[in-house]
Amino acid sequence: MDYNISVNEYLEKVQERNFDRADFLHYVIEESRNLDEKYSFFAHLDSFQDISFSQNLFGLPISVKDNICVAEMLSRAGSRILEGYRPPMDATSVKRIKESGGNIVGKTNQDEFGFGTFSTNSAYGIPKNPHDTSRSCGGSSGGAAGLAAAATFPHVALAESTGGSISCPASFCGVVGLTPTYGLVSRYGLIDYASSLDKIGAIGKSVSDVALLLSAIAGHDIKDSTSIAKKKYDYTKHLAKTARGARIAVPKEYFRNIDKNVERAVWDAIDKLVDAGAKYREISLPTTKHALPAYYIIATAEASTNLAKFCGLRYGHAEEIGGNFDEYFSRVRSSGFGEEAKRRIMLGTFARMSGYRDQYYLKAMKIRTLIIRDFKKVFKSFDAIAAPAMPVIAPKFSEIDKLSPVQAYQMDVLTVAPNLAGIPMVSVPAGSARSMPVGLHLMSDHLQEGKLIEIASAFESVVGSDKK
Ligand code: GLN
Repeated sequence: MDYNISVNEYLEKVQERNFDRADFLHYVIEESRNLDEKYSFFAHLDSFQDISFSQNLFGLPISVKDNICVAEMLSRAGSRILEGYRPPMDATSVKRIKESGGNIVGKTNQDEFGFGTFSTNSAYGIPKNPHDTSRSCGGSSGGAAGLAAAATFPHVALAESTGGSISCPASFCGVVGLTPTYGLVSRYGLIDYASSLDKIGAIGKSVSDVALLLSAIAGHDIKDSTSIAKKKYDYTKHLAKTARGARIAVPKEYFRNIDKNVERAVWDAIDKLVDAGAKYREISLPTTKHALPAYYIIATAEASTNLAKFCGLRYGHAEEIGGNFDEYFSRVRSSGFGEEAKRRIMLGTFARMSGYRDQYYLKAMKIRTLIIRDFKKVFKSFDAIAAPAMPVIAPKFSEIDKLSPVQAYQMDVLTVAPNLAGIPMVSVPAGSARSMPVGLHLMSDHLQEGKLIEIASAFESVVGSDKK
């Protein structure tokens, strides 16, 4: 039987009598192993068991980013300090996937705790871009996006973004990445990076795939105090063939200093949005230039406190007890954390120190408020904002090696503002530049996932019909 089918085809086929689920499972396991050998997508690949077969996912294979807890399955957030950690419980999003009939294939590779843009800061393998293995999948959800692009079997990836970790790899790998409104999906069971920014979302081959997974995981959760009081909802209702009447804003600041080929591909994509029935106007988001420094101050400040719990006593990596607590703690953390994690702990601790707090952290928080205001103003007259997701195509590993930390941080210039604002966003494949995928980034107001799915799917169907 041919299992190279879409998620929708799978959902139809699996309910037919003659669908051989054992054979399908065998195929998924074999193919996952082969892909892992070739591209290093997985941090952990279990013997995938067919434990779930309820509605609405009917046993659909779902991969989970390594920083989202799956009960009894290694969940290490790409870090050596969590070596051996098998959580006793499922994250709420994972629990809901299982209850909806999804089957967990394994844990996907990522930058340690989400610290990075290329998944090169990973302790368990650096995923390679399936379009060109000398290039990165992006990050930090690199394994998730690479697998979504390369898997021939029907699959959707559960991923997470703090400052762009869903949009970036989706754009680099040519797949759809949906980051929901902050608080729409419970963070319970997420190994956190920066608690006021972290959002669990989905990466898949189509807008319909990510809408399906969002419908399974979104909704209020009493275990997360920042969870929004929203009931379960079927986002696939918003899949559309036209975006007639949609008002799109194109911010001029998002086209500064970007690769010319990427710029061309994104303008072509905006023309396709017009073909789908949308209208656009150029606008300005003046606070854009302040987003990157504000993001790196807030994200590292929160990360440095969140990582304090990893001291070799409760979770993961431990060493022989010796010396006083500070000595032991330092020894464990020196050997367990990677270089980028250490850099961020130091940056974040500095930004929170008394004397520097007002100058850095509190100022960054004020900028965050201005950024939110900027976006809110635009959404009074527009349904969505369209821009490139990333300023470049997926870089080569040899190019990444030459980047300084600050140059690497600058790659996030287009994704950090919407992440700071907590608004939903989706990166949709929008053609290519130098034979590598480019992502069109669509952003909308808080809780307007429906609108976003409508516009993104209408765009997708115009692109699809052009190809035929
Ligand atoms: N690249 C950004 C960072 O390093 C965002 C990563 C993320 O969203 N986890 O912080």
